[in-house]
Amino acid sequence: MKISIVAPFYNEAENIEAFFATLVPILEETGDGFEIVCVNDGSKDNTLNLLYSWGDRHPEVVVVNLARNFGKEIALTAGLDHSTGDVVIPIDSDLQDPPELIPEMIAKWREGYDVVYATRTLRDTDSWFKKWSAELYYRLFNLVTETKIPFNAGDYRLMDRKVVDSVGRMRERSRFMKGVFAWVGFKQTSVEFARPERFAGQESQSFRRLWRLAVDGIITFSTIPLRVWSYIGLVIASLSFIYGLVILTKTLFYGVETPGYASTMVVILFLGGVQLLSLGILGEYVGRIFEEVKRRPLYIVDNPPVATDKHHDT
Ligand code: UDP
Ligand code: MG
Repeated sequence: MKISIVAPFYNEAENIEAFFATLVPILEETGDGFEIVCVNDGSKDNTLNLLYSWGDRHPEVVVVNLARNFGKEIALTAGLDHSTGDVVIPIDSDLQDPPELIPEMIAKWREGYDVVYATRTLRDTDSWFKKWSAELYYRLFNLVTETKIPFNAGDYRLMDRKVVDSVGRMRERSRFMKGVFAWVGFKQTSVEFARPERFAGQESQSFRRLWRLAVDGIITFSTIPLRVWSYIGLVIASLSFIYGLVILTKTLFYGVETPGYASTMVVILFLGGVQLLSLGILGEYVGRIFEEVKRRPLYIVDNPPVATDKHHDT
């Protein structure tokens, strides 16, 4: 049995030493074979050199160097594509996903579970805004999509080979890994942990990026935002019809009433706003359709460390 660890690295030079120092003893302890697939996601610091030097010294360390920064979701996909283990564990390289959980995950896998995801018991290290928005987002996501993602679970999880292969068959460009992992199904369970602070450095997932990811998640897993407009339109049309009747009767019985600037403006502005909003939502979908039909490779690997016939550019 072989364990594959998949870790994305973006400007993590300060964390590499500590990352391997914590992870490797835990993996050796398990007594199983292992590999650590390190994906360098276009880091601008010394990360790549450090990874290569670890790779030279340790045959278990596999370095996949992406040609530029593709973002965490794609980096993770690249790592999964290059993994060869019977179980695969994606993990953050900033030690926010404690490797100490790995033996517990493997134990659950041996009990017969195909996916063991790690849920955070407390989000003490996050700001109240992040906690509150995450909670709201999980609720919204589970409300509008058929795919149910577990509360407070990140990408840190153990997956059986068959799960990884199924995930690998989903080649969409706008990807929301939590949703993709949940979509494939299989027998799932969870283990709990308290998420520690980042070991060193700054979080690089900016608000803009998280926002895009959030929108991607909902839009790629639900068509409700697209379909809801026909109902909103129906309601507005019915209300307008009733109001039209009211105006007509009033005019017939009481004659023409000229003042009406305020009500006219309100209706025009409101409808204009509603139309722009629905156009915007349409645009979100059309834009993604455009991205998908171009069928560009998900990522480009620079200097693949090993010759591989895996589908890393399909
Ligand atoms: N990461 C990446 N590419 C990016 C941004 C982040 O591979 O463009 C990696 C980063 O090195 C880390 C993980 O994704 O291992 C999580 O990033 P971060 O700590 O910035 O975000 P968090 O999820 O902790 O808020
Ligand atoms: Mg982090």
